[in-house]
Amino acid sequence: MIAVLKKGTTQAQLDHLISWLRGQNLDVHISQGEEYTILGLIGSTGNVDMELLASLDIVESVKRVAEPYKQCSRQFHPNSTVITVGNAKIGGDHFCIIAGPCSVETEAQIIEVAQKVKAAGADLLRGGAFKPRTSPYDFQGLKDEGIALLLKAKKETGLPIVTEIMNANHLDLFADVDVIQVGARNMQNFDLLKELGKTNKPILLKRGLANTLKELLMSAEYIMSEGNQNIILCERGIRAFDTYSRNTLDLTAVPMLHELTHLPVIVDPSHATGMVRLVPPMALASAASGADGVMVEVHNDPMRALCDGAQSLKPEQFAVLARQMRTVREAIAP
Ligand code: PEP
Ligand code: MN
Repeated sequence: MIAVLKKGTTQAQLDHLISWLRGQNLDVHISQGEEYTILGLIGSTGNVDMELLASLDIVESVKRVAEPYKQCSRQFHPNSTVITVGNAKIGGDHFCIIAGPCSVETEAQIIEVAQKVKAAGADLLRGGAFKPRTSPYDFQGLKDEGIALLLKAKKETGLPIVTEIMNANHLDLFADVDVIQVGARNMQNFDLLKELGKTNKPILLKRGLANTLKELLMSAEYIMSEGNQNIILCERGIRAFDTYSRNTLDLTAVPMLHELTHLPVIVDPSHATGMVRLVPPMALASAASGADGVMVEVHNDPMRALCDGAQSLKPEQFAVLARQMRTVREAIAP
């Protein structure tokens, strides 16, 4: 349920109303907009006397939120959430570029890629240390050593780092990681989501291979319901019937999610397409669709990559793309 308060409501009136609502066992989320203050109410809202609430002097309107996701809903929080990671901002008017290899392989590899993507204008460095591979016989990632190498690359370049977690038992290893990624395969690992909800780390939550936008938002809600509000959603392609590309990039997700939620939405055209030649056009289309950022795989030697070489841009291809994406963003600026 949301209650929109009238302009000019004083702090004392607001405090009084909130303590009355909390007295009814409701969780109250306050969203302070330029025009209005909105109270998002969670809990047994069925017991709340809506008419009584609506009749109060300071209350403009009261509405039930029909959607099962509440805290991530734009109705609860009309202003877009902006997440700050180091010098980068994700959400609102900002456009964030995340780049790096699928997997961290060696110190030389991750440092070289980090330096090159930074020089080309990336805001964050990605790299998998724990890799969710379809085959148990494929490279599974360098694990804790991979995280240590990412931290070295961060020290070297100043770029904040994004890397995937697969198991909540590994959380201690992620203490210095800037953004924790939940991969497509774990989007509905609810125990993992709840544990991440107890941290205050930004979480990059990727859409599952065959999940609806509502399911993605419910997964974000799992994290938020434990207290962590710092979530970045990521469209990374869904499984459809065509077999030419690795997945089908659902770009409709971007404007749709922007309508439904205040959380930032980025796009991963690398996993969406699986082919390096398809990455630039889809990355540019993502920028044009209003996405809050793009995450692309970049490798210094794609032919020898231990994972996803076929979809990895070379640093010089990434440099051209990064410039073009910024140009597209400027072209569509309001
Ligand atoms: C990744 O980003 O490294 C990854 C494994 O992506 P996804 O979970 O989208 O397949
Ligand atoms: Mn990959």
